[in-house]
This record gives sequence, structure tokens and C-alpha cells, in this order.
Amino acid sequence: MLNRRTLLLPSVLAITVAAFAVSSAYADGELNLYSSRHYDTDERLYSDFEEQTGIKINRIEDSADVLIERMTAEGANSPADVLLTVDAGRLYRADQAGLLQPIESAVLAERIPENLRNPDGKWYGFSQRARVIFYDENEVADPPQSYQDLADPKYAGKVCARSSSNIYMISLLAAIAEHVGEEAAQTWAQGLKDNLARDPEGGDTDQLRAVASGECDIAVSNTYYFARALGGDVDGLTGSTDMFGVVFPNQDSTGTHVNISGAGVATNAPNRDNAIAFLEYLASDSAQDYFADGNNEYPVVVGIPLADALSEMTPEGGFKADDLNLDVLGKNQALAVQIYDRIGYE
Ligand code: FE
Repeated sequence: MLNRRTLLLPSVLAITVAAFAVSSAYADGELNLYSSRHYDTDERLYSDFEEQTGIKINRIEDSADVLIERMTAEGANSPADVLLTVDAGRLYRADQAGLLQPIESAVLAERIPENLRNPDGKWYGFSQRARVIFYDENEVADPPQSYQDLADPKYAGKVCARSSSNIYMISLLAAIAEHVGEEAAQTWAQGLKDNLARDPEGGDTDQLRAVASGECDIAVSNTYYFARALGGDVDGLTGSTDMFGVVFPNQDSTGTHVNISGAGVATNAPNRDNAIAFLEYLASDSAQDYFADGNNEYPVVVGIPLADALSEMTPEGGFKADDLNLDVLGKNQALAVQIYDRIGYE
């Protein structure tokens, strides 16, 4: 639209129009969104933004690692405006690869808690997930109350957990290392490994399925995987949810480990203002609702209601979340990988 009007207008006026279009957050135009999200409710999330702003969203959807590789390969010519993905550890990797630029926004600073955004404004969290402990209520009378408890020898042969190459496991150990130091973190990882019922395999849903099938009694998973089974139809899990107990760990100490779905503006964003407008939109009440609901996550903005299934599994009155700045998860990522490698955790 801008190009057509520019052609029709005298040159001086055309420059004015162009300058306006670039400086206004609500200019017509486009937004190229590189996203690893793929939820049914997202259609409404995106169409509302398009209606409110007149900005058309072009979506490129793939796994986070593929998107990061693609942006790296595209370099200065990348059409990417926004990278939207999960886990602060991944956003950190994108930043380390030089793919994100710092954004200052009064809206984002006010709406998003400080610990859920990068200190330089390179990325912002828009929903939270907690990594919690699930157990078979028929088999475990005294479930672990903390991540530290997972390493207690009394749970030997009972615990299922994912492989150490998984970003959720890396981020969890990165947080623990920040709280207790490298040596104690390694002792913990060794204890967890010693308690495993089987070699690490599969995704979070597979850990929960292994509890349902009796292969293990205790598992670690992000909240939304269980909420998905409560609210919908997850093969090998829905129908068995009654046997599960849930512990939000470390309520008496550091709080439960949380992570985010988040986004940042691409270093070479051709539509930088539209990208900022999109991030600010994601922090609005209505977008928070869709964004968190789509994957049964906790909104980052206070006062937005939880999805039914998530509400059902969350302690009444909420839970104490670890308030560590999530940037630390990225900074301690290499250390966490080293610790897992040292002890031979697969
Ligand atoms: Fe996940």
C-alpha cells in the first residue's frame, strides 16, 4: 500500500508519508513472524492484531533450532522481524548468534515482570510454564517436595526424566547451579541419574505416560503437557490422570522453576516498528488470554484467568515461582551441559 501511494504522490509528500509509516507503531504494512508455535487458538491471536493495526502477519513456522539456523544463514538479508519460541535458553542462543536486537518499550517494561525478560530488551517472556513433579498417588506416599528431593536415595529406581540434550533439562540444571553452586548442582544431577527408573528417553508427555503405565512412579514435566491431557485427548495419558499427584517443588525455598514462551525483535528486522507493536500487543490483556490459553500456560500479566485445565492442576491461590532472572538460564547453559557430560547423564 505504501509503495502504491508513494508512486502517486509528489516526491516531497511521499517522503512525509514514508516517514510517518516508519515512525508510527500502527502503520500499515507487514510483519514477518518466525515462530515455533502451532496452536489452534493462535488464529484469533494473529487476526486480532491484524484487525487492530492493519499490519499483515506472514508466518514462517518451524522448530526453534531450524528457525535460528535459517535466520543465521539469511544474515543481513533475513526478512525475519520477530522470533517467537519457547525457553529462555533458546532465546539466549538466538541472542548469542547475534539474531536479536535490544528493544526499549515502556509498555513491555510495565507489563512484563523484570525476571521474565532479558535485561537489555533482547527478548521478552509472554507466558510461563512451570517444571513440576508428577507422581503415582497409589505408589508414592511421601512424594518429593523439591528438585533436591528427586536425588534422595529413597526414590532409587522410581524417577523418569528426559535426556540432558533437552533444553528444559539444561535450563533446570542451570537454575539449580545458580542457587546452590556448581559442586552441589553436580551432586544433585548425579543423584537424579542414580534414581532413574530407565535411561532418559522421550519427551515430557512420554515421562507422564511412563508413570501411567507403571514404568516409573515419579516424573518431571512441564505443566502444560499434563494440562493438555486433562483438557483434551492425549494418547496413553488421558483416562489415567486421576492416579497422578502434582507437586509444585521448592515452595519453602527458591520456588518452582519456571520458563517462558517468548519473543524478540530480529537484528535485521525490515519492519522494526511493526515488530515492536506486535510484542506490545502480545502483552495486552486479550492477547495474553489467547497466547497463554493456546498452550495451557500461565499468563505473564497479572489478573488474566487461567485455562480451565491449568487451573485444575494448579494449587489454589497459586504457587511460589523461582524469581531468578531467566537470562541466567542462558548464561549457565554451558555449565549445565558440562555437568551432565561429566557424570555421564545421557
Ligand atoms: Fe514443550
